[in-house]
Amino acid sequence: MNENLSLGRIFGIHVGLNWSLLVVAALIAWSLATSLLPAASPGQTSGAYWTAGVISAFVFLASLLAHELAHSVVATRRGVKVEGITLWLFGGVSRFSSDTASPGAQALITFVGPLTSLVLGAVFYLAAVAVGGGAHPGLFSATLSWLGYINISLGVFNLVPAFPLDGGRLLQSLIWLRTGDRLRATRIAARIGMGFAYLLIAYGLATFIFAGSLIGGVWAVFLGWFLLSAARSEEVGGLIRQALSGMTVAQVMTPNPVQAPDDISVENALHGYVLASRHSTFPTHDAAGRLSGLLTLTALKNVAPGARPTTLIREIICPLDKVSTASPADPVTNLLGLPAGCSEGRTLIVDGGRLVGIISPSDINRLLQRSVSGRSQVAAGSE
Ligand SMILES: [Zn+2]
Repeated sequence: MNENLSLGRIFGIHVGLNWSLLVVAALIAWSLATSLLPAASPGQTSGAYWTAGVISAFVFLASLLAHELAHSVVATRRGVKVEGITLWLFGGVSRFSSDTASPGAQALITFVGPLTSLVLGAVFYLAAVAVGGGAHPGLFSATLSWLGYINISLGVFNLVPAFPLDGGRLLQSLIWLRTGDRLRATRIAARIGMGFAYLLIAYGLATFIFAGSLIGGVWAVFLGWFLLSAARSEEVGGLIRQALSGMTVAQVMTPNPVQAPDDISVENALHGYVLASRHSTFPTHDAAGRLSGLLTLTALKNVAPGARPTTLIREIICPLDKVSTASPADPVTNLLGLPAGCSEGRTLIVDGGRLVGIISPSDINRLLQRSVSGRSQVAAGSE
């Protein structure tokens, strides 16, 4: 889910939107205006239904944002680096660029999201009652109670103990808290999540076969399959984390990478740097010698041959604020799962404002392979 539209910063946290969510918002406004609100509060004009429908869709998006902001704000307070929030088809995603050190902090960061949805839901319901709910609610009250219903559903659904839902993460932190063993907690939570996924798939198949419900059945199977693959990747992620634990960035990085000045042309960069070395990316510096970004082969290739002599690499580099950075003493596990972006997954290693190294995804893969083969040699030797 790529971010298509930036909404700026809220509480210092970057918020973006994927177009898929606007489609969802339009569907919500449409179904509220044409069927849900007319059924709940009959006798209004279609203009009134549409106004209420569109406003509700926006309030719903704001509710999703409140859920994600709760995760991100608490994470920031607990010392976790937050990359930003993206709102998309299935709700929101908060991206963290560093790991939680303690199960307690992780449980808290996870729980405040559904809690926010549940509290918002309760507030909307109470407001609906206060403005005159009951058997024949006015349009305003019917709208408020729909917002109450959708927020409570969101809170409850997110508490289902299956990855990647908040409930899965919460279960994992609670087991981690009890056993003190993070990998075991991940394994158990992933297994329970798989159990839920299989139940959902079985339920979907049963509704399809016995009740003949095609859409409901297929949707449940699809959701079950999605939860199943999330549980698997969570389990694999746990193993990777285990293999890399205790290693620092300094042990993995390629030290002192070749830096290119950012005021040379693409033509000169190709001949002077790319063809002259075996590297495919180059950190760049400005005229004052300060680190300015990262030049990738992809960016160079995207410049048409005719424009190469006149295009400066400063115009095509991945700017520093879009490249992830780390310091040599950071744990390598912090670099797992970072969004690739224009830096193509590279992380620049900076120490006291000075560039000291670079890490690419293939460096981490090599390390993993070594760690896995090292482990199997130990196992063979002990037999
Ligand atoms: Zn959440």
